[in-house]
Formats: sequence, structure tokens, C-alpha cells
Amino acid sequence: MPRAKDLDRLTDDQLLDLRLCELPLRIKGTPLEHRVARLHEELGARGLRFKPHVWLSEEWFTPDGVPGFAVPFYLAHPRLSKLERSQVLEVEGGTERECLRIMRHEAGHAADNAFGLHSERRYRSLFGSFARRYPDSYRPKPNTRNYVLHLPAWYAQAHPAEDFAETFAVWLAPGSQWRRRYAGWPALRKLEYVDEIMRGLAGRAPARASRARVAELGELETTLRDHYRNKRKHYALDRLSGYDRDLFRIFSAEPRHASSPSAVGFLQRNRRELGREVAEGTGAHAYAVDQILATMIGRCRELKLRVGLTPEHTKQRLLVLLTAQTMNGIHSGYHRIPL
Ligand SMILES: [Zn+2]
Repeated sequence: MPRAKDLDRLTDDQLLDLRLCELPLRIKGTPLEHRVARLHEELGARGLRFKPHVWLSEEWFTPDGVPGFAVPFYLAHPRLSKLERSQVLEVEGGTERECLRIMRHEAGHAADNAFGLHSERRYRSLFGSFARRYPDSYRPKPNTRNYVLHLPAWYAQAHPAEDFAETFAVWLAPGSQWRRRYAGWPALRKLEYVDEIMRGLAGRAPARASRARVAELGELETTLRDHYRNKRKHYALDRLSGYDRDLFRIFSAEPRHASSPSAVGFLQRNRRELGREVAEGTGAHAYAVDQILATMIGRCRELKLRVGLTPEHTKQRLLVLLTAQTMNGIHSGYHRIPL
């Protein structure tokens, strides 16, 4: 079993051979410790005595009935954040800002559990039934004002419990100015409900004080290799249908462009930037968008396409095509690992 300071010396392959339970990680002494403390301060600033406990596991999640939440292991060591990026191209919660956004969301689930909020009649009438089965995917309505906007991909629309957690997160965030931002939105009623109920709970000890930890890192025998194989499979999008016609609107097979740079080279040079833009714009996972780019690069190679427009113009058209393909790819709904 390696020591924490040895992780930097291991190659990706050596790391992938390790089991999750073999990772020498803890929260204490890492930036995560500071972020948890900040979350607790934010809760304290609202008068809440509730302080969710936090432990390391495979992904972000709050187990049913537990007033605390799991944080993914890759945030506990920079070498593992780097591996996460190379395996799935995105480190969810990698920056302090993003990490706190997700923590506020998880704190919403944990508060829901700590005080048994979802069994209240008003919760049910505003958010829906907590007991509803979790969907494998969901199809959000981007324009509705019935839900707050916090995590990407209109995540509040995934399930009543997520709707509550997202509303709680917006309410908790310092300086979120939710009354002004959501003025006139039906979602404001949900925020006002959270505000009222949490004010009522100020200074009160949670009904549930359990410190249970579910699927703690030390119990998980999966290798990192299998973990990432499953994760990539989860994010992969449906196979795309022919879009040669679209590619010919961006690139060229005409002899007059025979000495222009190749489409494959252009895509490869801009792969990261295009992928990031489209992932941010659509809420799809960066890995899912990159898979579309990979398919596109393969097809451009087969068609021997070349750049026929200015680089700026080419990039613009690529963004439109990639966005359309991403939205089509998620026609069956967003597949996100539940947070
Ligand atoms: Zn959630």
C-alpha cells in the first residue's frame, strides 16, 4: 500500500492497478478540510447548529437518511485530481468555488435527512414526492422558471429531492440575492419555503444525529481501472447518425483546398477548447462531448477533409454542430452521476 507522498511518483497505469481501499487518503490537512469548514461557517451564519459530517468515497453523494455526505477521493490529492482529468476530462468540484457549490447542494440533502423535511406536506406540494423513483436520465425544460438554477444541466429538474437540494444551495450561498434574482419566478415560492423552514430550525439540534458513513473509501475493493471504465460507460452518449453533410459545410474536400491544413489537425488543436465550451454551454459532461469530437475526427480522417474557411469561422461552425450533436446525443435525457 503506497503512502500519500508516494502517489506523485506513480504512473497512471500503476495508479489504475490500485484498489480504491488502498489509496492512502484523508480529508484532514487537504484543501477539502478548509472547504468543509467554510460550509459549516455558512450554515452557522444562518443560525443553524447542523454540521454535516463528510467522508471520502467514490463519488459525491448523500445516502438516504444520513445527515452527512461523501466527497470523491480524487479531491483529496492533486495526483488523483490529475488522474481524474486524464480519465474523464473533468474534475467535478476541482476548484474551491465549484466544490462549495456541490457541497451546498449535498448539505441540502443532508439537512433534509437531519430534520426529516421531506415528510412534510408543504415539501411534497412544492417539490413533489421524495419517494419517487430516481430516473436513469431526465429531460429538462430549459426555459421553465419553476426551478432554481445552480448545478449544470438544469439538475433541479432531475428529481424532487434534487429540486429541494438545489433550492437549499441557492438559499445558502453567501450573497446569492435570491429574492431579487428569482423575483417573479414560481421557483421563488420554493426558496421562501426553505427560508421559512430553516429560520424555524435555527439553534435546534438535528432530529437525526447519526454519523453513519456509507461506502467509505476503505471498504471499496474496486480497482481504479474498473472504476473509470464504469464511469466512462456511464457518460458515453448514444451513437451518432450520419452528419457528413454538416462536416462538408465546415470543411472541404475540394482540390483547391488540397494544400490547406487538415481538418483532423484543426480539430485536434482545438479539441480541448471546443469540448470545454460545449460542455459548459450544454451542461453535458466534458467526456461525453469529447466522445463526439473523437468520432468527428475519425470521420474527417476517412473523408480526407481540409480547412476551407478562416479559423474563426471554422470554429464558430464547429461550435454550432457540436452543440447540436451533443443535444441530439442526450435526446433520451441527461445522464449524470447523481450528485
Ligand atoms: Zn443531489
